[in-house]
Amino acid sequence: VLDAQPLPEESSGRPDDGLRPKRLDDYIGQDELKQVLGIAVQAALGRGDALDHVLLYGPPGLGKTTMALVLAEELGVTCRITSAPALERPRDIVGLLVNVQPRDLLFIDEIHRLNRVSEELLYPAMEDRRLDLTVGKGSTARTRSLELPPFTLVGATTKAGSLSSPLRDRFGLIQRLEFYGQEDLEAIVSRTADLLGVSLSAGACRRIAGCCRGTPRIANRLLRRVRDVACVQGRQNQIDEGLVSQALSLHRVDHRGLDAGDRRLLAQLDQHHDGGPVGLETLAAALGEDPTTLESVVEPFLLQQGLLVRTPRGRMLTEAARAHLREQEVA
Ligand code: ATP
Repeated sequence: VLDAQPLPEESSGRPDDGLRPKRLDDYIGQDELKQVLGIAVQAALGRGDALDHVLLYGPPGLGKTTMALVLAEELGVTCRITSAPALERPRDIVGLLVNVQPRDLLFIDEIHRLNRVSEELLYPAMEDRRLDLTVGKGSTARTRSLELPPFTLVGATTKAGSLSSPLRDRFGLIQRLEFYGQEDLEAIVSRTADLLGVSLSAGACRRIAGCCRGTPRIANRLLRRVRDVACVQGRQNQIDEGLVSQALSLHRVDHRGLDAGDRRLLAQLDQHHDGGPVGLETLAAALGEDPTTLESVVEPFLLQQGLLVRTPRGRMLTEAARAHLREQEVA
């Protein structure tokens, strides 16, 4: 329930999950991003030209796909959504580019996963609006160039560092999405509650916003789980903090947004290693987890929250984590 990766029904391939804001003004938070892109959109509209290529990077679930759709709406153009793993063969990317209409927006999710051949087809397309195709084979092979209409490529990635520099350099606008603060998250939860037709008390809204790990996708998912409990109890119109607590404890989510897996890692360090330092492999073996999953899925939030530190000698528990574990025991 706290995984920021999309579930199949929430995946970015679905342009509308019914909850996405449609215009820049409805897009909550990320003020700097909105300001920069808002100006670029106005300028592009003024010139009657396509928006410059945009690279959006940051952790999953923060609104990259949503922003691409918002940009298309603001520009009054179509947004075609795809992701790098779906562009495995050169003909996939060629098909996408030859069908592009003037000023259209192409959204490629997980763009760091594009293969070399697809990436090299993109370079002239992005820079010179030209598609270089090789026709025929062997000694009869010839290169044909196809002119493309002006278009905008919006790339999204959770791993900006894995993008090759020639690709990165072809984006005119490179923007990072930040985790959301409490106030923005409360606004997101309250907006989603309106759209889902449930009525939340201020305390209930605060509680959900406080444990969604700064991520709108998790906020919306938690709200849906709270709505399930409210539905079963016939209390859709009176969701208060108590009901949210019930739903969260059903999913074993605590008030800091930690789930059972997070607490198990902290408890392991506390009870069996005296707080560390412990190497990743040892910790993973003790928890029966895969080290990569532990490092890339479980640890980042704990590190960000200051509950865990990585040192050259291994992982260590912080004082804040000890206090949190004690608090949970009492609760
Ligand atoms: P991924 O990288 O995993 O594809 P993403 O960054 O593209 O994730 P989105 O799919 O755009 O994330 O957003 C996830 C959900 O959060 C969407 O349902 C959207 O409605 C909601 N959301 C994201 N950003 C905002 C925002 N600023 N205001 C309101 N809702 C938002």
